[in-house]
Amino acid sequence: MSVTQGRADNLAMTSPLLRRRDLNRAALAWALGALALPRALRAQQGVASTPWSSDPFTLGVASGQPRPDGIVLWTRLAPATDDGAASMARPACAVRWELYADAALRVPVRQGEVLTDAQQAHSVHVVVQGLQPARPYWYRFVCGDAVSPVGRTRTAPAPDADVARLRIALASCQHYEQGFYAAHREIAASDVDVVMFVGDYIYEGSNPQTALRLHGTPTPQTLAQYRERHALYKRDADLQAAHAAHTWLLTWDDHEVVNDYAGQFDPAWDNERFVQRRAAAYRAYFEHQPIALGPQGASLRLHDRFAWGTLADLWMLDGRQYRSQHACPDPRIDHGRIVTGCADLADASRTLLGREQEAWLAQGLTSSARRWKLVGQSTQVSSTGTDTPEGRRVWTDGWDGYPQARERMLQGVRDARVRDVVMLGGDVHRHVAADLRVQPNDTASPVIASEFVTTSISSRGGSAAAMRQLMQHNPDVKHARGDERGWALIDVTSASALCEFRGTPHPALADAQLARQAVFAVEAGRAGVVTG
Ligand code: FE
Ligand code: CA
Repeated sequence: MSVTQGRADNLAMTSPLLRRRDLNRAALAWALGALALPRALRAQQGVASTPWSSDPFTLGVASGQPRPDGIVLWTRLAPATDDGAASMARPACAVRWELYADAALRVPVRQGEVLTDAQQAHSVHVVVQGLQPARPYWYRFVCGDAVSPVGRTRTAPAPDADVARLRIALASCQHYEQGFYAAHREIAASDVDVVMFVGDYIYEGSNPQTALRLHGTPTPQTLAQYRERHALYKRDADLQAAHAAHTWLLTWDDHEVVNDYAGQFDPAWDNERFVQRRAAAYRAYFEHQPIALGPQGASLRLHDRFAWGTLADLWMLDGRQYRSQHACPDPRIDHGRIVTGCADLADASRTLLGREQEAWLAQGLTSSARRWKLVGQSTQVSSTGTDTPEGRRVWTDGWDGYPQARERMLQGVRDARVRDVVMLGGDVHRHVAADLRVQPNDTASPVIASEFVTTSISSRGGSAAAMRQLMQHNPDVKHARGDERGWALIDVTSASALCEFRGTPHPALADAQLARQAVFAVEAGRAGVVTG
């Protein structure tokens, strides 16, 4: 997939036809305020230059993966009047991107032009480099006579900068049919440095009986269908506002492809066909997100590490692509399930992150010199099982289904005496604050890390009775509420990592207001959560 580099080499990366002479002409064209691609070249490549009959920027703009010197900018041309066929028939377009130092767009910093076409669903990814650390920038896109909304983004602080504070909006699980995105509206208006979205950005499945609004299309299986689903979500004004207001870090969970898939396996599908479906879903995901790397064949490298001055290292993990098949699968059930006494759970060869990512994380955690190690990943690390006379009952799709892998991860933290590790998760549609031990809930095993899990933006959560049972059987879990939709504000200083759980009763209505549900804290140097 084409990802273009920023600065002047933008054009060179875009097309092998462009030469130095064209770069100079492009720079001149920018100075004149004209479109940067020379007309002859435009004709040569069949670039569309007709005026738009309908706004192509209906999916908004986004930025992500902030580095001290760079940022990824995203948009996709998708007029509301397009159906799949019209979009595929649209010729290649030249899209100019502009980055400014000020909200009024008076001080240009960088600009460039990229070509996009139907092959990439007319999506645009620009990796802008050579920027100043720790500062906001504003950006927009121009295509023909159409101008996009303005987005605000920011770069990360310099790696050695003494940073006083980092504020993260932690979010996940936004089933379109199960509620509105009031939480995103609040995030958009909040003073945060970055939005960390940990999965279930789209949902493939529908349940029209409980729907507040409808997907209106069948469960996606093809590239065209996944594109359509992503576009539907991106058309939501509140979601667009959260993207336009902040830079994002993203990882996925299962619903970006299909409920509870594991690696290359989905019990309902023949393996080869499932890998094709997954590849289509991954490609559509890339085409709709501000991430730098596109798919390579059927894979997409999503896990990454980001530094926030000397205050924090942030990891974004991929808990889906490389995981082992579910423990003790039942051929009649095509998703995770609750098991008791499942022998597979003791199999040390099973992995949730894949061996390579697991080793990469362990190495990163043990070598990090920054105060906080904040690990964004898609689900709940602490146990949620239930003790029964027949043994412990656990849900096989979560970390409880991969207990050996969890033990390796946490044992690594303990052995290397890594301090100030906070896992940040989602997926389970409840706000959770928990202590992490190598052996869950075993007071003989010391608390060595902490966990905050955000509830869903809109997806339905568990009952109060289910939460009571969860906490009864899992004393490490200090807070669990599944009745509210919302997000979590993670406010990090050198002294503490505070977590404010924001919520509104289910379902989240269009005009819902959120309120503080609870506040927890982790104090620097002391693992475990305390009421804040
Ligand atoms: Fe979910
Ligand atoms: Ca999930």
